[in-house]
Amino acid sequence: MFATLSDRLTSTFRNLRTRGRLSEADIDATIREIRRALLDADVAVPVVRAFTGTVRERALSAEVSGALNPAQQVVKIVQEELVAILGGEQRPLRFAKRPPTVILLAGLQGAGKTTLAGKLGLHLRERGHTPLLVAADLQRPNAVTQLQVVGERAGVPVFAPHPGVQETAAGLVGTPGDPVGVAREGLAWAQERQHDVVIVDTAGRLGVDAEMMQQAADIRDAVDPDEILFVVDAMIGQDAVTTAQAFAEGVGFTGVVLAKLDGDTRGGAALSIASVTGSPVMFASTGEKLTDFEVFHPDRMASRILD
Ligand code: GDP
Repeated sequence: MFATLSDRLTSTFRNLRTRGRLSEADIDATIREIRRALLDADVAVPVVRAFTGTVRERALSAEVSGALNPAQQVVKIVQEELVAILGGEQRPLRFAKRPPTVILLAGLQGAGKTTLAGKLGLHLRERGHTPLLVAADLQRPNAVTQLQVVGERAGVPVFAPHPGVQETAAGLVGTPGDPVGVAREGLAWAQERQHDVVIVDTAGRLGVDAEMMQQAADIRDAVDPDEILFVVDAMIGQDAVTTAQAFAEGVGFTGVVLAKLDGDTRGGAALSIASVTGSPVMFASTGEKLTDFEVFHPDRMASRILD
C-alpha cells in the first residue's frame, strides 16, 4: 500500500535536497513531480489540484524556519498537507451522552462491513465497552451467519432474530425480511440488556443502487445513529471516490473506514475520500483476522508515505 507513491515522493525530495536555495522554477518542477505521483497513485483530480496549489503557495511564501533547509521545508509542507487531506487530527468515536451509542455500518457488498463489525466489537470490548452486533443485512446469503461467527470469535453477542437469505445445497432459501424492524428490535434489546454500544451491520449491493440506499436510510432513521461509518474497499481505486459520494448523498456518513488496506493498491483513492466527502478516515482494516484493525492516524499515515 502506497509503496509506489512513497517511492516517487521520496525520490522527488531526494533530488531537491541537492539544492541550496530553491528558486520558483525548482519549486514548480517539484510540484509537477508531486502532481504526477499523486495522479499515478489514483488520487482524485480535484484533490490533486487543491493539494498541489496549497503546497506551491506555501513553499513559495517560504515560512522560513532556521532549523530546516529549503528542501526539508517543502517536505514538511507536503507532510502537513497530506495530514490535512487525510482528515487532520485523529477523530475518535463519538459516544452518546446517554448509552447506547449506535454505530451504523454502510457500504457496498464485499467492502468488509461484517468483518469490521467484529473488529470494532472486539476493539470496543477490549476497552471496557459492552457492544452488541445487530444483523440487519438480511439480503446477502449467509450474512447473518457470518456476523454470528465473527461475533463469537470477538466474544461479542449478536442480535439476529431473522436468519436472512441462506445458501443451501438446494440453492438460496429464505426471504430478505425486514431489516428496519430488526435494527429497531436490536436497539431495544440493547437498551434492555444495557449494552453501551450497538453496531448495526447493513446490506450492501455490488454497485450503488437506489433501493439499497433507501434501506440504509430507513435503518438510519429508525435507530438514529451517533456514527455512520462508510466502509470502503481501498482496492477499488477511483470507484471508491464515486461510491463515497453516492453514499454521502444517499445515506450520509460521519466517518470512513478504509478496508483492505493490506492489499496491493495504489492507495490514492483512499487518500481522496476524506477530502472529497469532508468526513475523516477513522479506522483501517488491514486483513481478514479480527486483530487486523487500526485506529487511523492521519499523521502516522502521512509519515509512512513520506518515509
Ligand atoms: P461485507 O459484504 O461488506 O459485509 O464484507 P465482508 O466483511 O463479508 O468482507 C468481504 C470479504 O473481504 C471477506 O472475504 C473478508 O474476509 C474480506 N475482508 C474484509 N476485510 C478485509 C481486510 O481488511 N483485508 C482483506 N485482505 N480482506 C478483508
